[in-house]
Amino acid sequence: MYIVPNHLESWVEVAEGSDFPIQNIPFGVFQTKSNPKPRICTAIGEYVVDLAVLADMSLFDDLDMPIEVFRSATLNPLMALGKTKTSAFRKRIVELLSKGNEALEEQSWHFLHPIEKVDMLLPVQVGDYTDFYSSMEHARNVGTMFRDPNNALLPNWKHIPVGYHGRASSIIVSGQDIHRPKGQTMPLDADAPVYGPSARLDFELEMAFIVGTPSELGDTVSTGAAEDHIFGLSLFNDWSARDIQKWEYVPLGPFLGKNFASTMAPWIITLDALEPFRVQGPVQDPPVLPYLEYTGQKNYDIHLSVEIETESGVSKEVCQSNFKYMYWNMAQQLAHHTVNGCNINTGDVCASGTISGPEPGSFGSMLEIAWKGTKPVEMPDGSSRKFIHDGDTVRMKGYCEKDGVRIGFGEATAKVLPVK
Ligand code: MN
Repeated sequence: MYIVPNHLESWVEVAEGSDFPIQNIPFGVFQTKSNPKPRICTAIGEYVVDLAVLADMSLFDDLDMPIEVFRSATLNPLMALGKTKTSAFRKRIVELLSKGNEALEEQSWHFLHPIEKVDMLLPVQVGDYTDFYSSMEHARNVGTMFRDPNNALLPNWKHIPVGYHGRASSIIVSGQDIHRPKGQTMPLDADAPVYGPSARLDFELEMAFIVGTPSELGDTVSTGAAEDHIFGLSLFNDWSARDIQKWEYVPLGPFLGKNFASTMAPWIITLDALEPFRVQGPVQDPPVLPYLEYTGQKNYDIHLSVEIETESGVSKEVCQSNFKYMYWNMAQQLAHHTVNGCNINTGDVCASGTISGPEPGSFGSMLEIAWKGTKPVEMPDGSSRKFIHDGDTVRMKGYCEKDGVRIGFGEATAKVLPVK
């Protein structure tokens, strides 16, 4: 564990409100036009830092890290080194970028790239993807809309961090457009299903955690050990086609209504960077089974927002939520995921489920924001939204702020193109 002191500053200029002060030091993978070979990087202010070049300058030689880690097209080899090594690595990067290292500043043209000039790639080779359903407000909203308002949560919900296995192949990096999915739906009052473009394309505001240290088949990860296995967090949009989902999901759960695309931000924010932003989670009542009990603060205060930008170029923020609202925390999710002996691997992605807060302005999906289409969102260009239209861009952002330090998550953004 390494927490960057609040007072520390970089010799790289960092504007106020930047996502990437020296207290963040996230990890990603990038390439440039002049050097298309992917390699790992961090961000400081408005710059990407080429960590492969710093490795070539022998600045990490004493940290006992294989050279392939730096020239990898994914963060998996880095994440697999385990937290002791990755924390020491991050600490060294902070030292190199701190004021007082002016010798390095003179050579910065070798390894600093303006962030807008590089291509950020999907930062991990995703092994398995699991999606939870851990926001009580979201589960309650959905239960209220589709079942019984007086009995919105299913009987298992407060006992199990409910989840399902998703699809890794369609997880894409922010900036990559998606096509509206097509499929089979059952229109209201129809007596036979129809095939065509989804008419109810939605986003889901989520956070994903990325597994660094694997576990063995047959082993169970306790809530106390869970965070040792989590490398960091990323913004995640779990795109959903509500009409396809509604028709297909009984009895086995989400399938084609979910697996056509999920958009992930290019930056993984380490748990070390998030340490100062821990908060207490909600009281869990009824009490959970012993294997789900935990001690300490396991929720994180992360401000989240969603903005829709129309084809005509106007935009509107449609949601402000917070990761701290989660009923089930990541440690409980991982303990539950492995309680039966299911093993986890480096690069596995576990998403939180839609993160809704208690107020209408904090709902994390259009399904809830427009309340099943009954409360359309008025856009600044005069159009309205019940769900996402072709040409819309959905942009998710997140940041933590405390004691004068603000760290951000970049963004998870994608434009919706017409059906292919
Ligand atoms: Mn989801």
